[in-house]
This record gives sequence, C-alpha cells and structure tokens, in this order.
Amino acid sequence: MLQKFVYRISILVVACLFLTSLASKEAYASLKDIPTSYAKEINYLLDRNVVTGYPDKTFGPKLNVTREEAVTMVGRALGYNGKERQTSFKDVPATAWSSGYIETAYQNKLLTKPSDGKFRPKDKMTRGEMAYLIQRAFNLTEKGTVSISDVKASGALYEAINAIVTAGLSNGYPDGTFKPNNAMTREEFALFVARGLNKDFRVSMNLEPIGEAYVNASSLNVRTGPSTSYSVVGALANGTLVTIYKEEGSWVYISAGSLRGYVNQNYLVDTLPTPPTQEPAPTPSTEKIIAIDAGHGGKDPGAVANGLQEKEINLAIALKVEKILKDKGYTVVMTRTDDTFLELSERVDVAVKQKADTFVSIHTNSAANSSASGTETYYSTAALNPRAENSKKLATFIQDRLYKALGTSNRGVKEAGFHVIKKTPLPSALVELGFITNKNDSTKLASEEYRDKAAEAIALGIVDYYNWRK
Ligand SMILES: [Zn+2]
Repeated sequence: MLQKFVYRISILVVACLFLTSLASKEAYASLKDIPTSYAKEINYLLDRNVVTGYPDKTFGPKLNVTREEAVTMVGRALGYNGKERQTSFKDVPATAWSSGYIETAYQNKLLTKPSDGKFRPKDKMTRGEMAYLIQRAFNLTEKGTVSISDVKASGALYEAINAIVTAGLSNGYPDGTFKPNNAMTREEFALFVARGLNKDFRVSMNLEPIGEAYVNASSLNVRTGPSTSYSVVGALANGTLVTIYKEEGSWVYISAGSLRGYVNQNYLVDTLPTPPTQEPAPTPSTEKIIAIDAGHGGKDPGAVANGLQEKEINLAIALKVEKILKDKGYTVVMTRTDDTFLELSERVDVAVKQKADTFVSIHTNSAANSSASGTETYYSTAALNPRAENSKKLATFIQDRLYKALGTSNRGVKEAGFHVIKKTPLPSALVELGFITNKNDSTKLASEEYRDKAAEAIALGIVDYYNWRK
C-alpha cells in the first residue's frame, strides 16, 4: 500500500532555549572537547553550571561518568544544596567534594542505601542505575507501551526504564535493547540530564506519524540528529518503507522496524522505487555431473612396466569409479569407456559438451628409478579462482583418501599445468595412482582388490568435494 508522503512543515521554536549569559558563554567556550553531536544539550547544562568541566578545561565526553559525578550533575540540575558535609554513606566522607549532593539526593530519596552502607562514589554509573536516578530526579511517572528486549517486563528496573523511555529521555538502542549493565559516558549522562530539565531535548518516542516514504538510495544512514555531524545508528536498504514523525530542515525523524533516527529526506520518495534492472542470477545447478577421464588409450599405452600398461589400469579403475558414483546418484561423463585413443583436447571437449561441472583424470606414474613410489594428485592454478581453489580442494579430498586406501606413500597434492586439468574450464584434478615402475606399487595396481580400493577412494574423494562445494 502506498501512502502519500505529505506532512506538515513545522517550524521549530528553539531560539528561546539558548538565551545565555555572557559569563557562562565564556565558561563553556573554554572547554574545547564538547562533542558536536550533543553540543546543544551540553552547552545548555554548562550555561546552568550543571556541568563545569575538569580543571584542565576539558569536559571529557567519552570518559565514563562515575556515580558521584552523575549524582552531582543531577543535584546541580535540581538546585540541590551541594555544601560538603557529613553523609549517610560509610564511603563518602564529609571532605569529599561530592558529599553535599550525595547526601541531599539521599534525603530526597533519589538514592537508596544498600545493606553494606556504601555508595561506591568512584564506580562507573550503569545505564540501569541511571534509569532509577533520572526517573526519580525528574519525577517521571507516566508509563507507556515500551518494548525493551533485554530487560524483563516487570520489576523496578523495567518500571524505571519504561518511565524514561515514555518521557522521551531515551529510545534505548536501535537494536531494541537497553543494555542496563553498560557503563555510561559523561556525554551520554549529560544528555539524559538535559532532556530531564528541558522537554525540547527529548526524543520523539511518542510523536504521531505524519507520513510514510520509501528509501531511494542503495543505503541510507540513520543518525542520532538532523545533520551528518551526528553519529550513525543504522542504515536502511533501498525501498525500505519508513514512517515519518517530524521534519527538521532537510532532515526527517523516522522509524523503520526498531530503528529510529534522522535521515536526509532527499533520499526518500513517495512511491516504491523500481529496483535497478538486473540480469537474473544464474541458478546454480544442484545436479552433480562429474567427468571421469581414463588417461591414455588406443595407440597410446601410457607408461609400461612390470607387465602392465597404464592405459588399462586407468580405464579399469575409471569404470569402477563410474559405477560407484552412478550408484550414489551422480551423473558421470566418461571420456572413454574402452581402449580408444583421444587427443587431450577432445577429453576436455567431451566433458564440457556434456555439461560436466567437475573433471577428474586418472593416471599411473612412472620413473626411471624403480624405487620411486607413492600416490600424488595434481591441480592447476592456470585459471582464476574460484576454479583453482575448487581444483585444489578436489585434489586434496581425493589424495587424502587414495594414498590411505592403497597404503602407498603420500607424495601430496601438487600444482602442475597438465593439459587436461589446465585447459578445462572446470574444477579439475589429475590422479597419479602409483608408480607402475615400482615393484610394490605395480603389484597393487595389478590387483583387483586394490583397484576396487582405489576406485572407492577416488569416488569418495569426489563425494567429499561435492559435499564441501554446496
Ligand atoms: Zn599418464
């Protein structure tokens, strides 16, 4: 449903809030670290001597506010007697600079005394403690429908948070939490005190919506105030529907889900923006089509030794792999199923034309030195990732199973530019089962039992790869 993005332009009457005395202007002009985001509120407090800054002329906005600092700030805001004196707390002596405000706050029931009689003046004030203190200090009694996800919806803490949220002193966090155990910074606490003192600083929790609009930007920042100098509390995706509560210049205060804050209204439109036209993403095939290439064949026997021909070993094992994978529901493309000669490029073409998504070539190794033995698997980095990455993974899965199944030595996973694995566009691996020139290896390669083991291992390595790939 589309609603018209129409709202009343309200004129904010703010000038009267900032009448200041010359003396206090000088006082805060000398504090150099007032944060831009909260300048209005903190200057308002400086004008009233609610905050004074440190002796080194800083405000320390990002420092944690201590419990004695927080109570002093509230005491000054309420015009309490801050004269240093005896207190009701064991750990706040009469000589403490904050003793007067702490005692007056206690007498006025802003504070309770724990059973150990301590106030813990140097501890950091938490957001939960702040909620109690601010609720009592500004006598906030109205309760609303407030959803805070990390505070149980009953009990004194919830009551206090509900009251300060309902009064517009806080919205909680954009993610819908309040984080009552978190410490507070001096600027944050000052903000709550300023909002307690002056309703014009309060946030717009209970404003009536004045319109709706859609985000017309790839990502639109939501900020704590109506300019880019305010901090970002979240971002909205293109086409997000937002509810508008009020306008301030070119900014509007909005909500979208649990996110509330200011956005630049130049990025809002009154009808749903049409998304940029895109080619539909190719749907990745869930079908598994594996090409198995038995090396050599026909006039090319491959390596020959110990009464064996490589082409025969490769084919026998390739046919076993085919059967195992077909039984598991895979579609298997064979580059050859008999003693046929194929050029290397033909092997790649067969796989690609039959829409294979993965390619495994099976070979048997040979060496002039008959002591060379073991199993190794190759992949090629000739093409860009992710093909090369997938190829390495495929080779690794097969190698890990194969040398163990054959009981051969592990010569590892290696990179090489063999034609069939380099020229195929598919993730591919080339297996060297073992050395036909080595006595032990060739005995195994001649045995039906070991051929079954090799085929099972290669098939399971391929299954490992597909399981990893999805
Ligand atoms: Zn070969």
